[in-house]
Amino acid sequence: MRRLLLLAAVAIPSVASAQDAPARLVRQTTSAVSEAELRATVAHLVTYGTRHTLSDTTSSTQGIGAARRWAAGRFAVIAKACGGCLEIATPQETFTGSRLPPAGAVVQDVLAIQRGTADPDRVIVISGHIDSRVNDVMDATSIAPGADDDGSGVAAVIEAARVLSKHKFPATLVFAIDSGEEQGLYGARVLANYAVAQGWHVEAALNNDIVGNTHGQNGAHIDGYVRVFSEGDKSILTPKEAAARRTTGGEDDSPSREVARFIEGVAQMATPGFKAKMVFRTDRYGRSGDQVPMLDKGFPAVRFTEAAENWDRQHQNVRNENGRAYGDVLAWVDVPYLARVTRVNIAAMALLASAPPPPEAIKADGALKDDTAVSWKSAPGAASYRVWWRDSTAPRWEHSQDATGTSTVLKDVLLDDWLVGVSSVSAEGFVSPVEYPGATGAFAAPVPAAK
Ligand SMILES: [Zn+2]
Repeated sequence: MRRLLLLAAVAIPSVASAQDAPARLVRQTTSAVSEAELRATVAHLVTYGTRHTLSDTTSSTQGIGAARRWAAGRFAVIAKACGGCLEIATPQETFTGSRLPPAGAVVQDVLAIQRGTADPDRVIVISGHIDSRVNDVMDATSIAPGADDDGSGVAAVIEAARVLSKHKFPATLVFAIDSGEEQGLYGARVLANYAVAQGWHVEAALNNDIVGNTHGQNGAHIDGYVRVFSEGDKSILTPKEAAARRTTGGEDDSPSREVARFIEGVAQMATPGFKAKMVFRTDRYGRSGDQVPMLDKGFPAVRFTEAAENWDRQHQNVRNENGRAYGDVLAWVDVPYLARVTRVNIAAMALLASAPPPPEAIKADGALKDDTAVSWKSAPGAASYRVWWRDSTAPRWEHSQDATGTSTVLKDVLLDDWLVGVSSVSAEGFVSPVEYPGATGAFAAPVPAAK
C-alpha cells in the first residue's frame, strides 16, 4: 500500500477517522484545555512583583521563591486529583557566571513527573521558565511581571499537567518549570543534568518561551500560528557521524527536526486553522533558550514562540515613556492564542507518549538499483512500521508505505533522488516521529556523562 500525501505534514495518520484512538485522544485532551485556568495562572504569577532568579526566596508573597512554591503547590493539587500520579521534584544546582553574583547562586527547578505505564525511561518533556527580568539583567528588585516571558509558558506547562494527568501513557511525561533562564539558561542545565542522572531517554523536549503575545512591534496582529524552532545537525555528533550525514544529505533530519515535523502534523489534527510553523534553526536569529542545554545533552528539543514578538514588552521596566507603554504585563497576553498553543503542546505530548519509540539502526540500500531496500531494528511496542520518503529538497515527508516486518522494498524509488526514514506504529495506530538512517537510533543516542 502506498499513499501520496501531497502537502501533508505528517508523521501521524493523515486518514485518521473520528473513531480511531489517536484522533479520540487528541479530541479528549485538547477539548479539556481551559482558557480560564491559563488566565488565572498568568494573573497569579504577576502578583509576585519580580520573579528574578536572584530575587527574594523567603517571602511568602514576593519573589521567585514564593512563585516556585506556589507552582509546586499547583502540581500537588493536580497530583491529588489523579490519585498521586505526579511526583514532584525540585532539583537544584549552584552556578557561577557573568550574570550571577561572584559567590554564585542556587538555581532550582520545579518538576512534576507522570511515570509511564510501559517504559518509564522514555520521557517527553514540556518546559517553561518562571524567572523574569527588566532592562538590567542583574536588577532583582524592580517590578518584572513576566506575563508573556515566560508566564505564558509556565501556564502552558501547568495546564498540560492538569489535562494529561487524567490519562495514562506508556511513556513518562515531565512537566518542567525552569529558573535561571534569563541569567544564562541555568535551569535548563539543571533539568538536562537531572534527566541524564535519572537515565531518562528524552525523546522530545518541548520548550515554550513567549507564547502569548499576538500584537507585534510593527503593528502586525498574528494569531494564526506559533513558530516551532528546531536545530539542524545534532550538535553532539562526532565529526565522523556528521560526515556520514552530510554524505547522504541528512542535515535536515536531526531528531529535533523530525519532532518539529511531527508537531506540524499534530497541529493539523488538534487545532484546525491554527498552524505550527516550522523554522529550521535552533532559535530566533542570534538568540537562545532552554531547549539548548537539552540539545547539548543529545536530547531532541524544539522551541515554541509566538509569531509576533513585541520587544517593548520583553525585558523592560514597566513604564510609560512619551506615551509609549513598556513592560511585560498581563494585559498583553492573548489567552485564546495561548490556549491554542497549549492544545498543540498537549496533543503532541499525548501522541508522542502513546506511540512506540522510533525504530533504530535504519539502513537504506539503493546504490546502482532502481528500487530502495529499507531495513531497521524492531522497536518495543511497535505492531508495524511506516517507511517515508520525500524529495531531497522537500521540507516535509511526502510519501509513505506501510510494512509489518523489519524491512521493505520501495519499488521504483531511486535512492539517489530521495530521502527516506521510518516510523513505528502501535496496534492502536499511534505513530512515532520519523528516524533517519544511521548506525544507531538518533532518538536513543547515548548521552554524554553529566558535568
Ligand atoms: Zn523567556
